Amino acid sequence: MAQPQRVVVIGGGIGGLAAAVALHLSGRQVTVLERSRSLEPVGAAISLAPNALRALDVVGLGDGIRALAVWQGDGGLRTPGGHWLSRTSADAAARRFGGPLVLLHRATLIDHLAARLPPEAVRTAAGSVLADPGDAHRPARVHTPDGDLEADLVVAADGIRSAVRRALFPDHPGPVYSGFTTWRVAIPVPGVRFASHETWGRGRIWGTHPLADGRVYAYAAAVTPAGGRAQDDERAELLRRFGHWHQPIPAVLAAARPGDVLRHDVHHLAEPLPAFHHGRVALVGDAAHAMPPNLGQGGNQAVEDAIVLAHHADDLPAYTAARLPRTAAVTRRAVKAARLNLMSNRAGIAVRNTAVATLSGLGPALLLRGFDGIADWRPPQRPYASRRTRVGDEQYPDERYLPDEWYPSAGTGSGEPAPEENTP
Ligand SMILES: Cc1cc2nc3c(=O)[nH]c(=O)nc-3n(C[C@H](O)[C@H](O)[C@H](O)COP(=O)(O)OP(=O)(O)OC[C@H]3O[C@@H](n4cnc5c(N)ncnc54)[C@H](O)[C@@H]3O)c2cc1C
Repeated sequence: MAQPQRVVVIGGGIGGLAAAVALHLSGRQVTVLERSRSLEPVGAAISLAPNALRALDVVGLGDGIRALAVWQGDGGLRTPGGHWLSRTSADAAARRFGGPLVLLHRATLIDHLAARLPPEAVRTAAGSVLADPGDAHRPARVHTPDGDLEADLVVAADGIRSAVRRALFPDHPGPVYSGFTTWRVAIPVPGVRFASHETWGRGRIWGTHPLADGRVYAYAAAVTPAGGRAQDDERAELLRRFGHWHQPIPAVLAAARPGDVLRHDVHHLAEPLPAFHHGRVALVGDAAHAMPPNLGQGGNQAVEDAIVLAHHADDLPAYTAARLPRTAAVTRRAVKAARLNLMSNRAGIAVRNTAVATLSGLGPALLLRGFDGIADWRPPQRPYASRRTRVGDEQYPDERYLPDEWYPSAGTGSGEPAPEENTP
């Protein structure tokens, strides 16, 4: 296939914008079509692990994001009564994975990505339909509200309900309910002091984390049938389910207004797609591999996709080969993590909590191993832009000068931990 020049991206979320930036910086003419009236994202904060930050380094955004975000890791796991099951540290995470995990508002990430594109590249209120995926001899075609666009490459970044995925892979079963619903808020909570935590109850979890602008990001999840909604409001629902848990949870709920609380049922693609490309179309992000949020990797994997796609834009089978096995493995691990976090069986919970506390007593490394094979991913492109993976007094190696074995081809990084290092 000839080198793609005209790129049309359907969907202006994290995956679509990251792909647009990477393809624009590689000299292609990019148009992003977003059906909403603005790029303002749904959702509150997002956690980015070193894998996505290294991918963002490739397009020169990693350091800006690291500087604006709160480094995650100082905190740990608790029980609803407040007992600490484990403690981890941001330093330990950064040492293990060669850089920090960070938390930032989604809008900040979207703004940074959009700012790397020429303003005329993004069209909002532009719900679009793939009319023809094209092939080696004819371009793809996309219907937009302003007429059809021809493209040498179409990036389908239209999210978990992707119409492009349904059109290209009509036999694929599509998303399944993951068995739980989630709530999210990002609000000021005046006067509250707390350490970051995730608290595991019976079929329920709650997390509270600081944001760089002083607001608090809190999320909760509960095992419940799909489609449920509170009869009054979702803040009241959270109070019923979590109001009696340890501080700062009651303080966060006291500060939230009903309209602050977002609720979403979680779905994922349990069965991997046969490919992430068809004709001249490549799928990225949730359109390709929606996963439960329990490892905080859905958006991270979308950013990885974007960078790898720019690397293989003229060889889409190589893109599929690089991304499908890895994202399928990360999805499997996210499903397992969801089962572990949201366990409802009392005996199982007792065993789980004892195991977590025991492992934690042996040092943070054992718990961090759960991210091995994920957070240590490195993009195929070099050199890296980052010079700011500094933690305390320690300067992590400037990756520009790392030896060749640190730069795997895009096909490596399976997403599975090394065999001798099973996830706890
Ligand atoms: C509760 C929760 C917490 C999460 N936390 C994290 C986290 O901490 N870290 C992390 O990495 N991930 C997290 N995720 C996952 C993450 O939100 C998603 O994986 C990520 O947003 C996927 O990005 P995307 O661009 O593929 O899709 P989306 O963000 O869904 O974007 C798709 C875009 O396409 C647009 N669109 C759809 N159809 C069309 C059309 N026909 N024409 C034009 N535009 C169209 C939509 O309007 C939308 O803007 C979480 C998810 C949930 C539910």
